[in-house]
Parts: sequence; structure tokens; C-alpha cells
Amino acid sequence: MTLRPILIHPDPRLKKTCDPVTDFDTALAALADDMLETMYEAPGIGLAAPQIGVMNRLLVMDCVKEEGGTPEPMALVNPKVVWESEDKNVYEEGCLSIPGQYAEIERPKMVRVQWQDVTGKAHEEEFDELWATCVQHEIDHLNGTLFIDYLKPLKRQMITRKMQKLKREQARA
Ligand code: ZN
Repeated sequence: MTLRPILIHPDPRLKKTCDPVTDFDTALAALADDMLETMYEAPGIGLAAPQIGVMNRLLVMDCVKEEGGTPEPMALVNPKVVWESEDKNVYEEGCLSIPGQYAEIERPKMVRVQWQDVTGKAHEEEFDELWATCVQHEIDHLNGTLFIDYLKPLKRQMITRKMQKLKREQARA
């Protein structure tokens, strides 16, 4: 397994719609493993392929946060929300591509999602609470949407300027 560098906003690759995965080969399974390792190392609870510059519809997540909890790594290929609850939920969201920035975002509290695993097998499951927020945040990435896109323009611009500064500092280091 290999740790992959995570792209930092702003980056044109984080604003693009990703292509469906069509080849369920060993390279796909290896990519999902790399993404999980990169996510755990960061550490984070979700990571989408475009965040490491791979423009395909693949995300990984594990929202088990309790100390000593059993990890539940998931890799979702070509995920699609097929139902969302009218009940909303607000979580303070962050993003590995926007380090150090957090904001409260309202989303449907529950969603039902269809996806394929890395072997191509179809799955459908309902997600609730943090898992629901996480899967929606990650699916957004596959459509070029970031959580800051839900914020007012001024706040979004402020965060973007901070990230530009961070990237300049990283480039110099
Ligand atoms: Zn994110």
C-alpha cells in the first residue's frame, strides 16, 4: 500500500465531475487500499478519488470514531443517492483538502445509497447521522462540489484565500 498525496483546495481537479469506474480489476482494489491507508493516516473519516487526483467515481470512508472501536473500512464505487430523508441534520464538517477549516453544514439526516464494491458487486444501504453526512460529502467530491460551496460567498472566499496562502507556504518549504 502507498500513501497518496492529498490535493489541497483550490485545485481544478477538485472542481470536476468524475467518470464512472468501468474496470473492476486488481488496480482498482489496490487504489481503494491506498485511499483507505491515506485516509487513516491523515487522519480522516472519508476520502474521494479526486482528492488524490484520480478522476473516477470511488470513495472510501470509516466513521467509527470511538476509541478502541472496530474499524469499518468501506470502499464505494459509482455510489448514487437513491433516497434522502426530509429530516435534516447539522454537522461541523471538515475536509482533508481544506485542512484546518470547519463549518456547520445542513444535509439530509438519512440517505439510501447504491454502489458497487471493488469486485463490481452491487450494494444498497441506508446511512444515518455521521455516516450519512460523510457519504454525502464524499459523493459531492465526485461531482466537483466541496462543503465550502454551501457557505456564503464571503466565508468561502476567506477560506480559499487561507488555503492559497497555505499552498504558497508549502511550496516554499
Ligand atoms: Zn472532503
